[in-house]
Amino acid sequence: MRAAVLALQGAFLEHEKILESLGVPCFELRKKSDLEKDFDALILPGGESTVQGKLLHELEMFEPLKQIIESGAKVLATCAGLILLAEKIENDSRVHFGTMPVCVKRNAYGRQLGSFFTEETFGNLGKIPMTFIRAPYIESAREDVEVLSKVDGKIVAAKFKNQTALSFHPELNNDARLYEWWIKS
Ligand code: GLN
Repeated sequence: MRAAVLALQGAFLEHEKILESLGVPCFELRKKSDLEKDFDALILPGGESTVQGKLLHELEMFEPLKQIIESGAKVLATCAGLILLAEKIENDSRVHFGTMPVCVKRNAYGRQLGSFFTEETFGNLGKIPMTFIRAPYIESAREDVEVLSKVDGKIVAAKFKNQTALSFHPELNNDARLYEWWIKS
């Protein structure tokens, strides 16, 4: 496995450190020509989805990256990355890649509870730490989307074919189990 980490904006460095600690080679996607390099896995980090979407278009990376996702590269998307994948954004008219049949709500936890930490069950890993930062959640998912985790009844992690998407930031906690699962999945 060789992972490309989208490195236009947001929290990408932390993902690279975890992948490296697990022995997974990775490199950063910063410009269009980086997409010509060989990779079979992709990390879409957290940050600001509107900024990331705009930069992807400006740098002419949007269409080739969408094709790479559609052709089956293994994707791990966190927070803003989930918003980029979502087919629908409940409180935003934008659609970015739209490759995952879920409807998300941006900044879903409001101002009061903008950022928080919890521990919840993820797939069959048991409880894992979850850091939420102005996070979206998945409002609804098509029936063929596998729900991996819920917090307070809201879907915060899901898998659809090659795409795993999370509301939270797994890279910010010292726990690599989710990555180990993702690498094997
Ligand atoms: N609120 C951000 C957005 O709408 C996502 C926050 C994050 O990635 N931590 O894109």
